[in-house]
Amino acid sequence: MKRELFPIESVVNKLEQEVVDYAVPVVDLIAVQTKDPLKVLLATILSARTKDEVTAAAARRLFSKADSLEALECLSLEELEKTIYPVGFFRNKAKYLAALPAVLKREFSGQVPDTVEELVKLPGVGRKTANLVVAVAFNKPAICVDTHVHRIMNFWGYVETTTPLQTEMALRAKLPENYWIKINSLLVAFGQGTCKSRAPHCDRCVIAEDCPQIGVTPRKTVEEKRKNSSSVQKFISWNVNGLRAILKKGFLDILHELDADIFALQEIKAMPDQLPDEVKNIPGYTAYWYPAQKKGYSGTAVFTRKTPKDVMYGLGKEEFDREGRVLTLEFDDFYFITAYFPNSQHGLKRLQYKQDFNKEILHYMDQLAQKKSVVLCGDLNVAHKEIDLANPKANWKNPGFCPEERAWMDEVIKAGYIDTFRLFNQEPEQYTWWSYRFHARAKNIGWRIDYFVVDPASCDRVGSAAIHDDVLGSDHCPISIEFI
Ligand code: SF4
Repeated sequence: MKRELFPIESVVNKLEQEVVDYAVPVVDLIAVQTKDPLKVLLATILSARTKDEVTAAAARRLFSKADSLEALECLSLEELEKTIYPVGFFRNKAKYLAALPAVLKREFSGQVPDTVEELVKLPGVGRKTANLVVAVAFNKPAICVDTHVHRIMNFWGYVETTTPLQTEMALRAKLPENYWIKINSLLVAFGQGTCKSRAPHCDRCVIAEDCPQIGVTPRKTVEEKRKNSSSVQKFISWNVNGLRAILKKGFLDILHELDADIFALQEIKAMPDQLPDEVKNIPGYTAYWYPAQKKGYSGTAVFTRKTPKDVMYGLGKEEFDREGRVLTLEFDDFYFITAYFPNSQHGLKRLQYKQDFNKEILHYMDQLAQKKSVVLCGDLNVAHKEIDLANPKANWKNPGFCPEERAWMDEVIKAGYIDTFRLFNQEPEQYTWWSYRFHARAKNIGWRIDYFVVDPASCDRVGSAAIHDDVLGSDHCPISIEFI
């Protein structure tokens, strides 16, 4: 396809239909909700190099303390830092916000200016931010070229540029003016949902026919990956809530049916010598056991078809290791960690213990990830987001969903680890644990507290992730991923 023939009008029309159901970029949302140029400016400054959900939360906190220039002026640098944390470069951004009121008052009579040339004189405001404020806050023609617009316009061959500034200038010369304001929010939404920087989803793209895919390596479908791979590996994780009990409920049949290469268990509640041979010597698998010192409590185990290079027991901390919570198998190209995270218990009595454990295991994962890929699976005993449990409002101070536990999951994701299930499934009502009471499982009143979490190096190898909620026998169900 020749570049000059790129059908921009029909592509923009198709994308407008497509992104209707996508998340609205946070700055646009704030513009619509507040119609306040100052808030749009503040949110835009916060949004640089920061995920939308983090920006939205930080903006909410900031606006609750500073809904005017005067109120912003009253916040100390330290308070600003605390308020906007954890947005990217929060210290620098706090400095810009602290300096902003004086500059706006001195140079612009306390008003947010509405031209790019004036806006770039403000602290922390570059051309991208300035264009976005002009377009979104003042509805005036301006083209905000961020990483999505720059990348996608080049994928389309609509421009041929190497920097966002070149892209902005090329678009100013070429893109019909009626598209200037909308092109940013359109391509941000599309870039976050489909045309991602790494391995875009060309297979499900509504404009694939129009796109020459210049410089693109499309994401391989699972089928393509399977075709080209002789080494698909399936991993299962399951909190069995007592291995001796579940053995009586067909555990071995389930294990064979699920046909995994590595089968990780948590809460085995048994010493190996309390178990029958049929589970200690499953044909084709080698078993590794890490029971708690206390009988009938906690403990982890792994059955593996592939022989590991090494097996590590625990975190090297007696207070966690006596409960048999972490078992790691080292293979050539990745570490496989299975973990049974502590429950913070009624009244959050054990929250501190859990937080100490959380801190320690994240540090452990970070250390291993410096050497090779990391896969962590197990019962993390926390539902990360409201979508991950049936009754978030009723549980927001309860064990497994209290702010401190969820903040740790935020930290894990912020550190670059990936909740693999959500790579493939954004639907609500996807649970892995149900209380035994009130027929919770039958009514699907559950929690998603079991996870496969991988580091970015492993992410591209994950071809599928699933919850096997039809498998009974425990109050948790098995979960799986496939490595391709
Ligand atoms: S076909 Fe691929 S590269 Fe082209 S717009 Fe769609 S996702 Fe992006």
